[in-house]
Amino acid sequence: MSDLSSQDARPDLPADRQVVLSGVRPTGRLHLGNYFGAVKNWVELQDRYRCHYFLADWHALTTDYADTSQVGNNTLECAADLIAAGIDPERSVIFIQSMVPEHAELHLLLSMLVPLGWLERVPTYKDQIKQLENKDLETYGFLGYPALQTADILIYRANWVPVGEDQVAHLEISREITRRFNAYYGAVFPEPQPLLTPSSKVPGLDGRKMSKSYGNAINLTESPDEIRRKCMTMFTDPQRLRKSDPGRPDVCNLFRFHELVSTPELRERVDRECRGAIIGCVQDKKLLAEVLIDHLAPFRARRDELLHDPDTLWDILVAGSKQARERAAETMEQVRAAMKMDYRKQIESFGGGLAVGVN
Ligand code: SF4
Repeated sequence: MSDLSSQDARPDLPADRQVVLSGVRPTGRLHLGNYFGAVKNWVELQDRYRCHYFLADWHALTTDYADTSQVGNNTLECAADLIAAGIDPERSVIFIQSMVPEHAELHLLLSMLVPLGWLERVPTYKDQIKQLENKDLETYGFLGYPALQTADILIYRANWVPVGEDQVAHLEISREITRRFNAYYGAVFPEPQPLLTPSSKVPGLDGRKMSKSYGNAINLTESPDEIRRKCMTMFTDPQRLRKSDPGRPDVCNLFRFHELVSTPELRERVDRECRGAIIGCVQDKKLLAEVLIDHLAPFRARRDELLHDPDTLWDILVAGSKQARERAAETMEQVRAAMKMDYRKQIESFGGGLAVGVN
C-alpha cells in the first residue's frame, strides 16, 4: 500500500491547494463496507487536501432510471450518513451532482471524443449487465458512465481521486479521456492521479464482499436489535461445529469484524479463547454485536440529529453545491475558450451588438 505522503501529483502546489474528488451513488444507506472501504479515508484526507465529496444522483440513474422515486430521499439520507461519519462541511465541499449542471455540460463535450471501444472495454461494464440482469442496462447512459465519471473529476480540475489498489484500473479510462481532450484542445486539465489509500475489505455476513446488492450488509444506521439479529447470521469458521472444537480466527469471517471494531485487548482475548475452545461462536456473535452497537452509537446519534433538522442539512448541501458550482463554472470558461466556443467573448469583440440573449 502506498504511503499518502510519498505521492505528489502537483509538487508546485501545497497539498492544501490540491483537489481531491470522490463521490458516492445514493442508492441506499451507507454500510460498514462503504465506511471502512472509502469514507473513513475521505475523513482523514480532509486534514491535508481540498476535498470535494458529492452525492452522485445522476450516476444512480444509470441503473435506477426506471424508478426514480427514491433517488431524492436516498440523496438526503446519504448526505446525512456522510456528515455523521465525519465529512465536515466546514473543511470539505459536500454537494449534490445534479445541483452543479456543469457536470452535464462537460459530460456532453467529452462524449463527443470518447471512442465507443474504450467504453465497451471497461471490465465492469459487461459484468454489471450480467449481475443486474433484472434491469435493462443496454442504455446510452450506462455505457457512457465512465465519461460522466471523468466529467465529475475534470470539472473541479481534481489532482487526486482516492481509490483502493483494486480500483486503479477504473480511473485509467478517465486519465485516457483527459489526455485525449488535452491533445485536441490544449492542456486544460491536470491528469487525475489515483490516491492510493489504505482501505479495509469488509466481508458481508455471508463472507462475500459486503454489498447492498448481495443483501449481506450491516448499515451504519442499523438499530441495536437489527445488529444483534444480523450478527447471529454471520458465517464463522466452517470447520468449527461444536464449542469443544478449537476455532481458527484467521479464517473466520466474524473475526474480520473484531479486527475492524474491537480493542486490541478484546481481539487478543477472543483469538486466544477461540483457539483454546473456551469461547463458543454464539457467545462471540453476541459479544461482537454489543461492540458494533457501541461503535455505531455516536454515528447514529449524529445522523438522527441531522435528519431531525432537514433545513440545516439542506442549507449545508445548497451552500456546498454553490461553492462547487463556482469552481465548475471557472472550468467551463476555460473549456469553452480552449474549444473556441466562447461565444460571449466573440460577441463582446463585436461590441456586444448582436441581438442574442446572453447573460
Ligand atoms: S469463536 Fe469467534 S472467532 Fe472463533 S470461530 Fe467462532 S466466531 Fe470465529
